[in-house]
Amino acid sequence: MRIVRAKVLGFCFGVRRAIEMVQAGAQEGPIDSLGSVVHNPVVVQKLQASGVRVVSSLAEVSAPTIAVTAHGRGPEIVQQAQALGVRLIDATCPIVRKAQKAAARLVDEGFKVIIYGEADHPEVRGVLAWTKGQGIAILDPEEEVAIPRRKVALLSQTTKSEESFVQFVSRFVARNIGRINELRVINTTCPETDERYHAARELAEECDLIIVVGGRNSANTRKLAQTCREAGVETYHIETAAELDPAWLAGKEVVGVTAGASTPDESIDEVVERLQALARQRPAASTTQGG
Ligand code: SF4
Repeated sequence: MRIVRAKVLGFCFGVRRAIEMVQAGAQEGPIDSLGSVVHNPVVVQKLQASGVRVVSSLAEVSAPTIAVTAHGRGPEIVQQAQALGVRLIDATCPIVRKAQKAAARLVDEGFKVIIYGEADHPEVRGVLAWTKGQGIAILDPEEEVAIPRRKVALLSQTTKSEESFVQFVSRFVARNIGRINELRVINTTCPETDERYHAARELAEECDLIIVVGGRNSANTRKLAQTCREAGVETYHIETAAELDPAWLAGKEVVGVTAGASTPDESIDEVVERLQALARQRPAASTTQGG
């Protein structure tokens, strides 16, 4: 049995950068992180051990330092940190920051900002907070949206694929063009995410089983698993190597491994090592079953 890793997998640069910033900050004292620095239980536990606690709101903050995750927050966080008298580590991913700045600028120019994305996703909530109430997030381009000044700007949640954003834009424009005088499309999809989807599709072409490693609460990891299944390959989404079921490998020749943008290298390595161990046991297991 051959084990193949996707050409691009695991931590994106934004998540890697956020973890490094928070780890460096934790050396100076405890940190309360506003949400998980990364949607992965293995990393969250590790960070906890180094003094980084996850809190869901400012009301829960008790540490002298707070951290904003790669997903970012609204602009009010700077004043809120000052009011609380805490140090702020802002680990907003530069790509998310670009989307926030674009949203703020477009609202100032009179555009209605429409984000193609999940309204309750932390990154989308953060970008919307930069629109002074002039933004909305939708997934369905057929949804009825008010366009007060006939000026519309379309942005995307960074983790949506470029392909799906293109489809959203074309269907939205086809439906609403009669109500629009000026249209701006800002491509705020993240190339790192798209690279992982492309690499997963490529992997699917040569494998008869794919293991996707990553947190179950990670949207991009779930989407990776969906991408592999849509490519017609048997796919399992696991968080740790311990979840690997040897029965999945029966009759498989090439097993692919990919991982979401929030999955640490060690989790991927553990899965590959366990697969290698199971592959080595396979002939013996077959003999036993046959006997
Ligand atoms: S997926 Fe892209 S936008 Fe999101 S944190 Fe990673 S690099 Fe930044």
